[in-house]
Amino acid sequence: MRFEISKVLDAIEGRVCTDPSLARAVLDLAEVIRYQDLDGGRPASLLRLGMVIDALARELEEDSVPVYAVVHRALLSDADLTSNERMVVRRWADDGLVEVLDNPGDRMLEVADLLGLPVLTRVRTDGLRGRYPWLVEQPGRVLAPVPGAGGPAFVAHVGGGHTPVAGDRSPVGVKLLSRQWRCPEPGCALFGGGGGGSFADLARVERSPAAQPPPSLRGGAPTCPRHGARLGDAGPRPRSEVLAVRVGGLIRRRFVLTEDQPALVGRAPDQAGGIVLGQWLNDEARRWISRSHVRFELRVGEVIVTDVSTNGSGIRPGGSMAEGDRVPLAPKQSRVVAEGDMVELYPGVQIGRPGELPAGAPYTPNSVMAEAPTMAMRLPR
Ligand SMILES: [Zn+2]
Repeated sequence: MRFEISKVLDAIEGRVCTDPSLARAVLDLAEVIRYQDLDGGRPASLLRLGMVIDALARELEEDSVPVYAVVHRALLSDADLTSNERMVVRRWADDGLVEVLDNPGDRMLEVADLLGLPVLTRVRTDGLRGRYPWLVEQPGRVLAPVPGAGGPAFVAHVGGGHTPVAGDRSPVGVKLLSRQWRCPEPGCALFGGGGGGSFADLARVERSPAAQPPPSLRGGAPTCPRHGARLGDAGPRPRSEVLAVRVGGLIRRRFVLTEDQPALVGRAPDQAGGIVLGQWLNDEARRWISRSHVRFELRVGEVIVTDVSTNGSGIRPGGSMAEGDRVPLAPKQSRVVAEGDMVELYPGVQIGRPGELPAGAPYTPNSVMAEAPTMAMRLPR
């Protein structure tokens, strides 16, 4: 049983991140794990985070949607969590997958404002206003996760509805995210580098500068939300481009391309960080698609695709699905992926910019909890 739970927590780990390009909603972990009415279980449970993430995926009709979690430091030693759960949260904190704060205050709303993300919270709207009244008043921007028939559902605080609505990054957010930042605190998991201090290597994860979270703005100065230290400007943030994999009409995952971080996509690429499609493919697609099938690179702002497969790929210019519009991409051939273009590895297996991949028929996304036996939800109280 413990083993199964660990597997679920590992799956949930793949859905928490502080990467501004990938996170799809922001929440306060300390709040979510205490939604006891979602499962009637223990006072606090990390599995409830998985339930809320699943609900988000259902609403957005997309697989693998990550959330940006702010975490009160006290949670790292919260006695209502199991020792295993505490260990997992500490690992997330060490790896910078979540943002640990001494006092989260309105950081959740700040992140939502800077990144244009919807907020998942039950805190009443009048308790949230603070510095961000405009955000709270936007219909669908703040939603409460509540028990529903097939798992948690959302209720918007303003404007009714149940679908989380994303906005644009605020002008301040755009400005902050155009630079990379460095925290003077050695081994800072969020703004690592540590200014070359002797403990700089303590940061367990080499964070790509393009994936840095948004700084907190305090007294007008970019500040590390974790350490309260003023951040140093480390130059322009590298360009990045978000691409999405669509299989069978549903976006299965997104990934970020930077100039020093190409991405290999295929059935099961060998390279670390490769985008693995295997789990979404039927037998025929699995036979056709090579272990490493295409490589994406970002060069001077342009997305270049190179076929590295045995069977070749195709490009659908402007996303056209018409039969005659597929331009073959032979093995070893490269091509610029223009706005709107879709790279097709096999019929129904496409890669493009997420906003330009038309939504297919409504599908139910895979559950992050899929590996949790039903029993897991009724663990010792
Ligand atoms: Zn820091």
